[in-house]
Amino acid sequence: MLYRQRCEACGSQARVLCVKCRTQLFAMAQPECDAAVVAVAYEGIARRLILNLKYRNRRQVVTVLAELLAQRIYQRPHQGLLSNSTDFDMVTWAPTSTARVRRRGHDQAELLARRLARVLDVPCRRLLIKVSTNVQTGASREQRLRGSVYSARKMRVNSHVIVVDDVVTTGTTLRCAADALHKVGARQVTCVAVASALRHDLRR
Ligand SMILES: [Zn+2]
Repeated sequence: MLYRQRCEACGSQARVLCVKCRTQLFAMAQPECDAAVVAVAYEGIARRLILNLKYRNRRQVVTVLAELLAQRIYQRPHQGLLSNSTDFDMVTWAPTSTARVRRRGHDQAELLARRLARVLDVPCRRLLIKVSTNVQTGASREQRLRGSVYSARKMRVNSHVIVVDDVVTTGTTLRCAADALHKVGARQVTCVAVASALRHDLRR
């Protein structure tokens, strides 16, 4: 059996994700989050997939995670986050620090954004530049807050932009990204993330 033909979550024979794991993933509860539309909590299958993408370069999981994100985005119009779910103008992402991307060979937030843009049929643009290069893993809360500063490239004003990140920890990263986009004229910014690792989720 080829390694590539294994389910990324349970290891059984399947392409990317077996039916059982896929069903379980899409049935996971959607956590409440002020900062973003978050698909699932950072646990179980979702956590395994994200770790495989981040640290084992298993890019094939991006497709599944982007489909999950799209499903959750369209599920939530009643929350007032999306007045009209078809009015997105573009997708972008909260970039990881350059050194980290270089070490890994890819920016998982960018991969997710590009795939999500294809699913939603809107363009994906590199709009955000990370001003500070502090990494989040192992950094103190104070360092994380200082490390999430973005500036945004000029864009068409009045756009509705989706900003993608893989895991929300404090929500600060996405808030800073949204602020930067508003400053260059975004009409609406919708932050989305695959998983939430906020404190209240970790306590359960
Ligand atoms: Zn499986």
